[in-house]
Amino acid sequence: MERAYEQFEALQRRVMALQAALTLFEWDAETQAPTGGAERHAELVSTLSGEYFRLLNSEELRAALSAAQAETLTEAEALKCRELQRELEKLDGIEPADYEAFSGLRAKSVSVWMKARQTDDFSLFAPYLEQLLAFQRKFAGLRRKSQACLYDVLLADYEPDFSVVQLDAFFAELKAALVPLLKRIQTEGRAVDSSFLRGDFPQERQEALGRRLAAYIGFDFERGVLAVSEHPFTTNLHNRDVRLTSHYRDNLDSSLFSVLHEAGHGIYEQGISDELTLSFAGQGASMGMHESQSRFYENLIGRSRAFWEPLYGELQASFPEQLGSRSLDEFIEAINEVKAGLIRIESDELSYSLHILIRYELEKALMAGELSVSELPKRWADKYEEYLGLRPQTMAEGVLQDIHWAWGEFGYFPSYALGSAFGAQLLHAMRQRMDVDMLLREGRLDELRRCLNEAIHCHGKRYTSAELLERFCGEAFTPVYYVNYLTDKFSALYGLEK
Ligand code: ZN
Repeated sequence: MERAYEQFEALQRRVMALQAALTLFEWDAETQAPTGGAERHAELVSTLSGEYFRLLNSEELRAALSAAQAETLTEAEALKCRELQRELEKLDGIEPADYEAFSGLRAKSVSVWMKARQTDDFSLFAPYLEQLLAFQRKFAGLRRKSQACLYDVLLADYEPDFSVVQLDAFFAELKAALVPLLKRIQTEGRAVDSSFLRGDFPQERQEALGRRLAAYIGFDFERGVLAVSEHPFTTNLHNRDVRLTSHYRDNLDSSLFSVLHEAGHGIYEQGISDELTLSFAGQGASMGMHESQSRFYENLIGRSRAFWEPLYGELQASFPEQLGSRSLDEFIEAINEVKAGLIRIESDELSYSLHILIRYELEKALMAGELSVSELPKRWADKYEEYLGLRPQTMAEGVLQDIHWAWGEFGYFPSYALGSAFGAQLLHAMRQRMDVDMLLREGRLDELRRCLNEAIHCHGKRYTSAELLERFCGEAFTPVYYVNYLTDKFSALYGLEK
Protein backbone atom coordinates (compact mmCIF):
# COMPACT_ATOMS: atom_id res chain seq x y z
CA MET A 1 0.00 0.00 0.00
CA GLU A 2 1.25 3.45 -0.88
CA ARG A 3 2.21 5.58 2.08
CA ALA A 4 0.12 8.70 2.61
CA TYR A 5 3.40 10.61 2.71
CA GLU A 6 3.95 9.89 -1.01
CA GLN A 7 0.71 11.63 -1.85
CA PHE A 8 1.69 14.59 0.29
CA GLU A 9 5.10 14.68 -1.40
CA ALA A 10 3.50 14.72 -4.86
CA LEU A 11 1.35 17.72 -3.92
CA GLN A 12 4.27 19.47 -2.31
CA ARG A 13 6.25 18.96 -5.52
CA ARG A 14 3.49 20.77 -7.42
CA VAL A 15 3.53 23.66 -4.93
CA MET A 16 7.30 23.94 -5.25
CA ALA A 17 7.17 23.75 -9.06
CA LEU A 18 4.80 26.71 -9.11
CA GLN A 19 7.00 28.57 -6.66
CA ALA A 20 10.08 27.91 -8.81
CA ALA A 21 8.24 29.20 -11.89
CA LEU A 22 7.26 32.38 -10.02
CA THR A 23 10.82 32.87 -8.84
CA LEU A 24 12.08 32.50 -12.37
CA PHE A 25 9.66 35.14 -13.65
CA GLU A 26 10.72 37.49 -10.87
CA TRP A 27 14.39 36.94 -11.62
CA ASP A 28 13.80 37.44 -15.31
CA ALA A 29 11.87 40.68 -14.76
CA GLU A 30 14.79 42.15 -12.80
CA THR A 31 17.54 41.04 -15.16
CA GLN A 32 16.67 40.14 -18.77
CA ALA A 33 13.01 40.53 -19.64
CA PRO A 34 12.15 43.16 -22.27
CA THR A 35 10.12 45.99 -20.70
CA GLY A 36 7.54 45.67 -23.47
CA GLY A 37 6.55 42.27 -22.08
CA ALA A 38 5.91 43.51 -18.55
CA GLU A 39 2.13 43.67 -18.77
CA ARG A 40 1.68 40.20 -20.28
CA HIS A 41 4.14 38.82 -17.77
CA ALA A 42 2.12 40.38 -14.96
CA GLU A 43 -0.93 38.45 -16.20
CA LEU A 44 1.02 35.20 -16.33
CA VAL A 45 2.44 35.79 -12.87
CA SER A 46 -0.99 36.60 -11.50
CA THR A 47 -2.41 33.33 -12.93
CA LEU A 48 0.49 31.29 -11.58
CA SER A 49 0.31 32.85 -8.13
CA GLY A 50 -3.44 32.24 -8.09
CA GLU A 51 -2.73 28.55 -8.77
CA TYR A 52 -0.03 28.55 -6.12
CA PHE A 53 -2.28 29.95 -3.39
CA ARG A 54 -5.22 27.74 -4.39
CA LEU A 55 -3.10 24.62 -4.15
CA LEU A 56 -1.45 25.70 -0.92
CA ASN A 57 -4.81 26.53 0.59
CA SER A 58 -6.57 23.42 -0.73
CA GLU A 59 -8.40 20.87 1.34
CA GLU A 60 -6.56 18.23 -0.68
CA LEU A 61 -3.18 19.41 0.58
CA ARG A 62 -4.37 19.83 4.17
CA ALA A 63 -5.85 16.33 4.15
CA ALA A 64 -2.70 14.82 2.64
CA LEU A 65 -0.63 16.61 5.25
CA SER A 66 -2.61 15.28 8.20
CA ALA A 67 -2.65 11.77 6.73
CA ALA A 68 1.14 11.92 6.29
CA GLN A 69 1.65 13.23 9.80
CA ALA A 70 -0.29 10.28 11.20
CA GLU A 71 2.31 7.88 9.72
CA THR A 72 5.79 6.96 10.85
CA LEU A 73 8.04 9.42 9.06
CA THR A 74 11.78 9.83 8.65
CA GLU A 75 13.27 12.89 10.35
CA ALA A 76 13.49 14.78 7.05
CA GLU A 77 9.94 13.87 6.07
CA ALA A 78 8.59 15.03 9.42
CA LEU A 79 10.51 18.26 9.03
CA LYS A 80 9.00 18.93 5.61
CA CYS A 81 5.52 18.30 7.00
CA ARG A 82 6.15 20.60 9.96
CA GLU A 83 7.34 23.46 7.79
CA LEU A 84 4.49 23.17 5.33
CA GLN A 85 2.10 23.24 8.25
CA ARG A 86 3.74 26.43 9.52
CA GLU A 87 3.34 27.95 6.08
CA LEU A 88 -0.36 27.12 6.17
CA GLU A 89 -0.72 28.62 9.63
CA LYS A 90 0.37 31.97 8.20
CA LEU A 91 -2.84 31.96 6.16
CA ASP A 92 -5.03 30.94 9.12
CA GLY A 93 -8.30 32.79 9.39
CA ILE A 94 -7.57 35.06 6.43
CA GLU A 95 -10.39 35.26 3.91
CA PRO A 96 -9.24 34.62 0.32
CA ALA A 97 -11.00 37.85 -0.74
CA ASP A 98 -9.01 39.84 1.83
CA TYR A 99 -5.82 38.18 0.71
CA GLU A 100 -6.48 39.10 -2.89
CA ALA A 101 -7.38 42.68 -1.96
CA PHE A 102 -4.16 42.93 0.01
CA SER A 103 -2.07 41.57 -2.90
CA GLY A 104 -3.67 44.07 -5.25
CA LEU A 105 -3.08 46.90 -2.80
CA ARG A 106 0.59 45.92 -2.46
CA ALA A 107 1.14 46.00 -6.20
CA LYS A 108 -0.54 49.40 -6.43
CA SER A 109 1.29 50.76 -3.40
CA VAL A 110 4.69 50.04 -4.91
CA SER A 111 3.99 52.14 -7.97
CA VAL A 112 2.47 54.95 -5.87
CA TRP A 113 5.51 54.82 -3.58
CA MET A 114 7.80 55.18 -6.60
CA LYS A 115 5.85 58.20 -7.80
CA ALA A 116 5.80 59.73 -4.30
CA ARG A 117 9.55 59.28 -4.08
CA GLN A 118 10.16 60.88 -7.45
CA THR A 119 7.96 63.87 -6.67
CA ASP A 120 9.01 63.99 -3.02
CA ASP A 121 5.39 63.97 -1.95
CA PHE A 122 4.61 61.81 1.08
CA SER A 123 0.90 62.67 0.94
CA LEU A 124 0.52 60.50 -2.20
CA PHE A 125 1.77 57.44 -0.38
CA ALA A 126 0.22 58.13 3.04
CA PRO A 127 -3.30 56.75 2.34
CA TYR A 128 -1.78 53.53 0.92
CA LEU A 129 0.44 53.12 3.95
CA GLU A 130 -2.64 53.54 6.17
CA GLN A 131 -4.45 50.77 4.31
CA LEU A 132 -1.44 48.43 4.29
CA LEU A 133 -1.11 48.89 8.03
CA ALA A 134 -4.82 48.29 8.52
CA PHE A 135 -4.60 44.98 6.61
CA GLN A 136 -1.54 43.83 8.51
CA ARG A 137 -3.16 44.76 11.82
CA LYS A 138 -6.25 42.80 10.86
CA PHE A 139 -4.26 39.75 9.65
CA ALA A 140 -2.05 39.82 12.73
CA GLY A 141 -5.13 39.98 14.93
CA LEU A 142 -6.57 36.89 13.20
CA ARG A 143 -3.31 34.96 13.41
CA ARG A 144 -2.44 36.01 16.94
CA LYS A 145 -2.05 33.14 19.41
CA SER A 146 0.01 33.65 22.54
CA GLN A 147 1.93 36.69 21.26
CA ALA A 148 1.91 39.71 23.57
CA CYS A 149 1.27 42.25 20.79
CA LEU A 150 0.44 42.42 17.09
CA TYR A 151 3.98 43.34 16.10
CA ASP A 152 5.16 40.05 17.65
CA VAL A 153 2.91 38.17 15.23
CA LEU A 154 4.61 39.86 12.27
CA LEU A 155 8.08 39.36 13.73
CA ALA A 156 7.43 35.64 13.97
CA ASP A 157 7.26 35.43 10.17
CA TYR A 158 10.87 36.53 9.94
CA GLU A 159 12.42 35.72 13.34
CA PRO A 160 10.39 33.10 15.19
CA ASP A 161 12.65 33.31 18.26
CA PHE A 162 12.36 37.03 18.83
CA SER A 163 9.66 39.23 20.29
CA VAL A 164 9.44 42.93 21.08
CA VAL A 165 10.68 42.26 24.62
CA GLN A 166 13.92 40.71 23.32
CA LEU A 167 14.36 43.17 20.51
CA ASP A 168 13.89 46.14 22.85
CA ALA A 169 16.73 44.78 24.99
CA PHE A 170 18.87 44.05 21.92
CA PHE A 171 18.45 47.49 20.40
CA ALA A 172 18.89 49.23 23.77
CA GLU A 173 22.32 47.63 24.03
CA LEU A 174 23.25 48.67 20.49
CA LYS A 175 22.00 52.20 21.04
CA ALA A 176 23.91 52.64 24.30
CA ALA A 177 27.18 51.60 22.69
CA LEU A 178 26.91 52.80 19.10
CA VAL A 179 25.33 56.25 19.33
CA PRO A 180 28.16 57.64 21.53
CA LEU A 181 30.82 55.80 19.50
CA LEU A 182 29.55 57.34 16.30
CA LYS A 183 29.48 60.81 17.91
CA ARG A 184 33.09 60.38 19.07
CA ILE A 185 34.21 59.37 15.59
CA GLN A 186 32.39 62.40 14.15
CA THR A 187 34.10 64.79 16.56
CA GLU A 188 37.46 63.25 17.54
CA GLY A 189 38.20 60.72 14.80
CA ARG A 190 41.03 61.31 12.35
CA ALA A 191 40.24 61.83 8.68
CA VAL A 192 40.19 58.84 6.30
CA ASP A 193 40.72 59.23 2.56
CA SER A 194 38.38 57.10 0.47
CA SER A 195 38.34 59.35 -2.61
CA PHE A 196 40.32 56.86 -4.69
CA LEU A 197 37.46 54.33 -4.52
CA ARG A 198 35.46 56.69 -6.74
CA GLY A 199 36.23 57.11 -10.41
CA ASP A 200 36.16 55.34 -13.73
CA PHE A 201 36.09 51.60 -13.00
CA PRO A 202 35.15 49.80 -16.24
CA GLN A 203 32.14 47.54 -15.74
CA GLU A 204 33.71 44.44 -17.38
CA ARG A 205 36.62 44.57 -14.99
CA GLN A 206 34.36 45.07 -11.97
CA GLU A 207 32.24 42.16 -13.12
CA ALA A 208 35.21 39.86 -13.67
CA LEU A 209 36.43 40.74 -10.22
CA GLY A 210 33.00 40.11 -8.73
CA ARG A 211 32.94 36.65 -10.27
CA ARG A 212 36.43 35.96 -9.01
CA LEU A 213 35.52 37.07 -5.45
CA ALA A 214 32.29 35.07 -5.35
CA ALA A 215 34.13 31.92 -6.49
CA TYR A 216 37.00 32.68 -4.12
CA ILE A 217 34.76 32.61 -1.04
CA GLY A 218 33.11 29.39 -2.22
CA PHE A 219 30.12 30.25 -4.41
CA ASP A 220 29.82 27.41 -6.94
CA PHE A 221 29.29 28.68 -10.50
CA GLU A 222 28.37 25.18 -11.69
CA ARG A 223 25.24 25.66 -9.61
CA GLY A 224 24.84 29.39 -9.77
CA VAL A 225 25.04 32.53 -11.88
CA LEU A 226 25.79 36.22 -11.39
CA ALA A 227 23.84 38.82 -13.40
CA VAL A 228 23.24 42.56 -13.32
CA SER A 229 20.19 44.30 -11.83
CA GLU A 230 19.28 47.74 -10.48
CA HIS A 231 19.42 46.56 -6.85
CA PRO A 232 21.53 43.52 -5.99
CA PHE A 233 19.64 40.46 -4.74
CA THR A 234 19.84 36.67 -4.46
CA THR A 235 17.21 34.14 -5.33
CA ASN A 236 17.14 30.41 -5.93
CA LEU A 237 15.09 27.71 -7.58
CA HIS A 238 16.70 25.00 -5.43
CA ASN A 239 20.15 24.18 -4.08
CA ARG A 240 21.60 23.59 -7.55
CA ASP A 241 20.37 26.78 -9.14
CA VAL A 242 21.18 29.87 -7.11
CA ARG A 243 21.14 33.29 -8.74
CA LEU A 244 22.97 36.41 -7.66
CA THR A 245 22.90 39.90 -9.08
CA SER A 246 25.10 42.90 -8.56
CA HIS A 247 25.31 46.44 -9.87
CA TYR A 248 28.32 48.38 -11.10
CA ARG A 249 28.78 52.06 -10.26
CA ASP A 250 31.58 54.56 -10.18
CA ASN A 251 32.41 53.57 -6.63
CA LEU A 252 34.34 50.34 -6.59
CA ASP A 253 33.48 49.33 -3.02
CA SER A 254 29.77 49.26 -3.83
CA SER A 255 30.12 46.39 -6.31
CA LEU A 256 32.85 44.54 -4.40
CA PHE A 257 30.83 44.35 -1.22
CA SER A 258 27.50 43.78 -2.94
CA VAL A 259 28.93 40.69 -4.58
CA LEU A 260 30.41 39.42 -1.31
CA HIS A 261 27.07 40.04 0.41
CA GLU A 262 24.95 38.29 -2.21
CA ALA A 263 27.44 35.44 -2.59
CA GLY A 264 27.14 34.92 1.18
CA HIS A 265 23.38 34.45 0.73
CA GLY A 266 24.07 32.22 -2.28
CA ILE A 267 26.52 29.98 -0.40
CA TYR A 268 23.81 29.45 2.21
CA GLU A 269 21.29 28.34 -0.42
CA GLN A 270 23.78 26.10 -2.22
CA GLY A 271 24.63 24.50 1.11
CA ILE A 272 21.11 23.32 1.91
CA SER A 273 21.03 19.54 1.88
CA ASP A 274 19.58 17.56 -1.04
CA GLU A 275 17.04 15.89 1.22
CA LEU A 276 15.51 19.26 2.17
CA THR A 277 15.76 21.37 -0.97
CA LEU A 278 12.51 22.01 -2.85
CA SER A 279 10.46 22.05 0.33
CA PHE A 280 9.54 24.70 2.88
CA ALA A 281 12.11 23.12 5.18
CA GLY A 282 14.83 23.66 2.56
CA GLN A 283 15.22 27.38 3.20
CA GLY A 284 17.30 29.53 5.49
CA ALA A 285 16.53 29.21 9.21
CA SER A 286 15.33 32.81 9.41
CA MET A 287 15.83 36.14 7.64
CA GLY A 288 18.33 37.13 10.31
CA MET A 289 20.32 33.91 9.95
CA HIS A 290 20.41 34.43 6.18
CA GLU A 291 21.60 37.96 6.73
CA SER A 292 24.27 36.72 9.13
CA GLN A 293 25.83 34.74 6.31
CA SER A 294 25.81 37.60 3.82
CA ARG A 295 27.24 40.00 6.39
CA PHE A 296 29.84 37.46 7.48
CA TYR A 297 31.36 37.60 4.00
CA GLU A 298 30.60 41.24 3.27
CA ASN A 299 31.74 42.79 6.56
CA LEU A 300 32.99 40.52 9.29
CA ILE A 301 35.68 38.93 7.15
CA GLY A 302 35.29 40.85 3.87
CA ARG A 303 36.43 44.18 5.29
CA SER A 304 39.33 42.69 7.27
CA ARG A 305 42.99 43.08 6.45
CA ALA A 306 43.62 39.33 6.56
CA PHE A 307 40.99 38.75 3.86
CA TRP A 308 42.58 41.21 1.44
CA GLU A 309 46.22 40.29 2.06
CA PRO A 310 46.32 37.55 -0.59
CA LEU A 311 43.95 39.44 -2.93
CA TYR A 312 45.02 43.05 -2.89
CA GLY A 313 47.80 42.64 -5.51
CA GLU A 314 45.22 41.24 -7.90
CA LEU A 315 42.85 44.11 -7.19
CA GLN A 316 45.63 46.63 -7.85
CA ALA A 317 46.45 44.88 -11.13
CA SER A 318 42.80 45.19 -12.21
CA PHE A 319 42.73 48.93 -11.51
CA PRO A 320 46.34 50.14 -11.64
CA GLU A 321 45.51 53.83 -12.15
CA GLN A 322 43.31 54.09 -9.08
CA LEU A 323 44.93 51.58 -6.73
CA GLY A 324 48.49 51.18 -8.03
CA SER A 325 49.94 53.71 -5.62
CA ARG A 326 47.66 52.96 -2.68
CA SER A 327 48.87 50.65 0.05
CA LEU A 328 46.84 47.80 1.48
CA ASP A 329 46.45 49.75 4.72
CA GLU A 330 45.05 52.77 2.89
CA PHE A 331 42.61 50.48 1.10
CA ILE A 332 41.49 48.84 4.36
CA GLU A 333 40.92 52.25 5.96
CA ALA A 334 38.96 53.47 2.94
CA ILE A 335 36.62 50.46 2.79
CA ASN A 336 35.92 50.86 6.51
CA GLU A 337 35.32 54.60 6.49
CA VAL A 338 32.54 55.72 8.84
CA LYS A 339 30.45 58.37 7.20
CA ALA A 340 27.03 58.69 8.77
CA GLY A 341 24.51 59.37 6.04
CA LEU A 342 20.76 59.46 5.55
CA ILE A 343 20.47 56.48 3.22
CA ARG A 344 20.39 53.01 4.76
CA ILE A 345 21.65 51.05 1.77
CA GLU A 346 24.68 53.32 1.42
CA SER A 347 25.48 53.10 5.10
CA ASP A 348 28.83 52.15 6.58
CA GLU A 349 29.09 49.10 8.80
CA LEU A 350 28.97 51.04 12.09
CA SER A 351 25.94 53.26 11.49
CA TYR A 352 23.96 50.52 9.75
CA SER A 353 22.25 49.20 12.85
CA LEU A 354 21.17 52.72 13.82
CA HIS A 355 19.24 52.99 10.55
CA ILE A 356 17.53 49.73 11.51
CA LEU A 357 16.87 50.87 15.06
CA ILE A 358 14.98 53.89 13.72
CA ARG A 359 12.79 51.76 11.48
CA TYR A 360 12.17 49.29 14.29
CA GLU A 361 11.03 52.00 16.71
CA LEU A 362 8.79 53.59 14.09
CA GLU A 363 7.06 50.49 12.75
CA LYS A 364 6.52 49.15 16.25
CA ALA A 365 4.79 52.44 17.16
CA LEU A 366 2.76 52.40 13.92
CA MET A 367 1.52 48.87 14.56
CA ALA A 368 0.65 49.68 18.16
CA GLY A 369 -1.32 52.72 17.01
CA GLU A 370 0.95 55.02 19.03
CA LEU A 371 2.10 56.86 15.94
CA SER A 372 -0.05 58.05 13.07
CA VAL A 373 1.01 57.93 9.44
CA SER A 374 0.74 61.73 9.20
CA GLU A 375 3.23 62.19 12.06
CA LEU A 376 5.64 59.65 10.58
CA PRO A 377 7.88 61.93 8.42
CA LYS A 378 8.61 64.30 11.30
CA ARG A 379 9.25 61.49 13.77
CA TRP A 380 11.59 59.88 11.21
CA ALA A 381 13.57 63.11 10.81
CA ASP A 382 13.75 63.66 14.59
CA LYS A 383 15.19 60.21 15.12
CA TYR A 384 17.83 60.66 12.42
CA GLU A 385 18.86 63.87 14.07
CA GLU A 386 19.05 62.23 17.47
CA TYR A 387 20.95 59.05 16.51
CA LEU A 388 22.98 60.01 13.46
CA GLY A 389 23.26 63.77 13.86
CA LEU A 390 21.64 64.41 10.47
CA ARG A 391 18.23 65.65 9.40
CA PRO A 392 16.75 64.66 6.03
CA GLN A 393 15.76 67.61 3.87
CA THR A 394 13.60 65.61 1.47
CA MET A 395 11.16 62.72 1.79
CA ALA A 396 13.21 60.68 -0.70
CA GLU A 397 16.23 60.77 1.59
CA GLY A 398 13.93 60.32 4.58
CA VAL A 399 10.82 58.28 5.13
CA LEU A 400 10.30 57.32 1.47
CA GLN A 401 13.67 55.67 0.90
CA ASP A 402 12.82 51.99 1.53
CA ILE A 403 10.44 49.81 -0.46
CA HIS A 404 9.57 47.42 2.42
CA TRP A 405 6.55 49.30 3.79
CA ALA A 406 5.18 49.75 0.26
CA TRP A 407 5.30 45.95 -0.02
CA GLY A 408 3.21 45.84 3.15
CA GLU A 409 6.10 44.27 5.07
CA PHE A 410 6.41 45.28 8.70
CA GLY A 411 8.68 43.39 11.07
CA TYR A 412 11.34 42.61 8.48
CA PHE A 413 13.87 45.34 9.31
CA PRO A 414 15.06 43.97 12.69
CA SER A 415 16.46 40.90 10.87
CA TYR A 416 19.09 43.06 9.22
CA ALA A 417 20.54 44.11 12.58
CA LEU A 418 20.08 40.70 14.17
CA GLY A 419 21.94 39.16 11.23
CA SER A 420 25.03 41.25 11.90
CA ALA A 421 24.90 40.28 15.56
CA PHE A 422 24.41 36.56 14.77
CA GLY A 423 27.37 36.77 12.41
CA ALA A 424 29.63 38.35 15.01
CA GLN A 425 28.71 35.69 17.55
CA LEU A 426 29.35 32.91 15.01
CA LEU A 427 32.71 34.40 14.10
CA HIS A 428 33.67 34.61 17.75
CA ALA A 429 32.85 30.91 18.21
CA MET A 430 34.68 30.04 15.00
CA ARG A 431 37.81 31.72 16.31
CA GLN A 432 37.76 29.34 19.30
CA ARG A 433 38.04 26.40 16.90
CA MET A 434 40.31 27.62 14.14
CA ASP A 435 42.78 30.34 13.31
CA VAL A 436 40.44 32.37 11.11
CA ASP A 437 42.96 35.07 10.23
CA MET A 438 45.57 32.53 9.22
CA LEU A 439 43.05 30.77 6.96
CA LEU A 440 42.13 34.10 5.40
CA ARG A 441 45.77 35.05 4.85
CA GLU A 442 46.41 31.69 3.20
CA GLY A 443 43.28 31.97 1.05
CA ARG A 444 41.75 28.85 2.61
CA LEU A 445 38.19 30.15 2.45
CA ASP A 446 36.88 26.69 1.77
CA GLU A 447 37.55 25.69 5.34
CA LEU A 448 35.41 28.56 6.63
CA ARG A 449 32.64 27.74 4.18
CA ARG A 450 32.69 24.05 5.17
CA CYS A 451 32.41 24.98 8.83
CA LEU A 452 29.38 27.24 8.21
CA ASN A 453 27.94 24.67 5.87
CA GLU A 454 27.96 21.92 8.48
CA ALA A 455 26.85 24.15 11.36
CA ILE A 456 24.19 26.22 9.60
CA HIS A 457 23.50 25.84 5.88
CA CYS A 458 22.81 22.13 5.44
CA HIS A 459 20.06 22.18 8.09
CA GLY A 460 17.67 24.50 6.31
CA LYS A 461 14.86 25.14 8.78
CA ARG A 462 15.65 22.09 10.94
CA TYR A 463 16.69 24.41 13.79
CA THR A 464 15.69 27.98 14.57
CA SER A 465 18.30 30.72 14.57
CA ALA A 466 18.50 30.65 18.38
CA GLU A 467 19.01 26.88 18.32
CA LEU A 468 21.70 27.10 15.63
CA LEU A 469 23.60 29.71 17.65
CA GLU A 470 23.29 27.68 20.83
CA ARG A 471 24.52 24.54 19.07
CA PHE A 472 27.50 26.19 17.42
CA CYS A 473 28.47 28.76 20.04
CA GLY A 474 27.55 26.82 23.17
CA GLU A 475 25.61 29.76 24.56
CA ALA A 476 22.41 31.65 23.90
CA PHE A 477 22.23 34.63 21.56
CA THR A 478 23.93 37.74 22.88
CA PRO A 479 24.71 41.04 21.14
CA VAL A 480 27.87 41.47 23.17
CA TYR A 481 30.22 40.09 20.48
CA TYR A 482 28.76 42.39 17.88
CA VAL A 483 29.07 45.46 20.10
CA ASN A 484 32.64 44.51 21.05
CA TYR A 485 33.59 43.82 17.46
CA LEU A 486 32.35 47.23 16.28
CA THR A 487 33.80 49.10 19.26
CA ASP A 488 37.26 47.52 18.98
CA LYS A 489 37.45 47.76 15.21
CA PHE A 490 36.34 51.35 14.82
CA SER A 491 38.11 52.71 17.92
CA ALA A 492 41.37 51.34 16.51
CA LEU A 493 40.68 52.57 12.99
CA TYR A 494 39.90 56.10 14.18
CA GLY A 495 42.59 56.24 16.84
CA LEU A 496 40.15 56.73 19.73
CA GLU A 497 41.48 56.27 23.24
CA LYS A 498 39.49 53.71 25.19
ZN1 ZN B 1 21.03 40.54 2.39
